[in-house]
Amino acid sequence: MKISRGGIDLFEKIIENARFLSPLKEFKLDSQPIEYRKDPLTGRWCRINVLRSSRVKQGQEEIGFSDLIEASSSNCFFCPENIEKTTPRFRQEIASEGRFSIGESKVFPNLFPFSEYHAITTITEKHFSDVHEFTRTQIENAMRAGQEFFKRVLKSDKEAGYASFNWNHLPPSGASIVHPHAQLTVDKIPTYMTRMFLDESKRYYNDTGENYWQKLIEEEKKVNERYITDTGEISWFTSFVPLGNTEVNAVFRDISSINELDDRHILDFASGLKKILDGYASFGIKSFNLTFYSARAFERRDDFCLFMKLISRPTPNKYYTSDAGFMEAMHLERIVESMPESVAEGLRKQF
Ligand SMILES: [Zn+2]
Repeated sequence: MKISRGGIDLFEKIIENARFLSPLKEFKLDSQPIEYRKDPLTGRWCRINVLRSSRVKQGQEEIGFSDLIEASSSNCFFCPENIEKTTPRFRQEIASEGRFSIGESKVFPNLFPFSEYHAITTITEKHFSDVHEFTRTQIENAMRAGQEFFKRVLKSDKEAGYASFNWNHLPPSGASIVHPHAQLTVDKIPTYMTRMFLDESKRYYNDTGENYWQKLIEEEKKVNERYITDTGEISWFTSFVPLGNTEVNAVFRDISSINELDDRHILDFASGLKKILDGYASFGIKSFNLTFYSARAFERRDDFCLFMKLISRPTPNKYYTSDAGFMEAMHLERIVESMPESVAEGLRKQF
């Protein structure tokens, strides 16, 4: 697959074989292909070896998951019987009512924030939901709750413009609380990754006169290896160079920032995500990270499309093995265990 910038093939991959005498093959020569793939926009590399998914993980005993749900449900801060007593209230400028709700989504400030404006919205009133149990309505309401928070912040502080909707599900994803919740952030400066996507998209536009994201979708549809489906103005596909396992993108073709989401986008996004999460459940996935990369609010850009990325994380067993080792944490280079093309094939079945 090619996306050309100055005639150069930007979908670049190199396949090398790691060879050794394997104890699994009576010490005969074993050869495992490693795919090195380069991201056409940012130049970031990842490595894929699907055989790694079959490796023994000593910290992977099938114990502890139900214990985790049970132990965390007593005195949970986000359960309806405690939420009013245990969660912070907004300042007058953001919400004179302290907190606000849309359906089961209740929005309140993060008690330990890492953004100047950092709120939490619950997604369910139920303490635990498995990935396939989230309803389209719950996802829609969480998104609407996010929009309401962004609207209030952007109105009260004209300098804060970088908003993001984020969701960590279960401890392997970084969630410290099991009760389903999303995190809403608004900052004056973008995150490193957001800035990189924005800057590189601008560069691509200046070089070619085209919107990289629209071009990418066009190419993905043409090649039809990673493309999953469209829901309204949103295109869903897996990444050529994933940031994590089982990575799915949702690109909003007609808008560039999260504050432009209207009811139609939210409905189309929720119905798509619901099916993708059903697909995740069919793969046995229990934990994930979801995030939005958005241009600055109210800054309509022709060179960028708002997009979401979803990745799976390890199953939350008692002594699970993390999927971020030295390569991910220290070299910022991702080792991926699933072929993006097979993931897309599996997810297409949900639509
Ligand atoms: Zn709870």
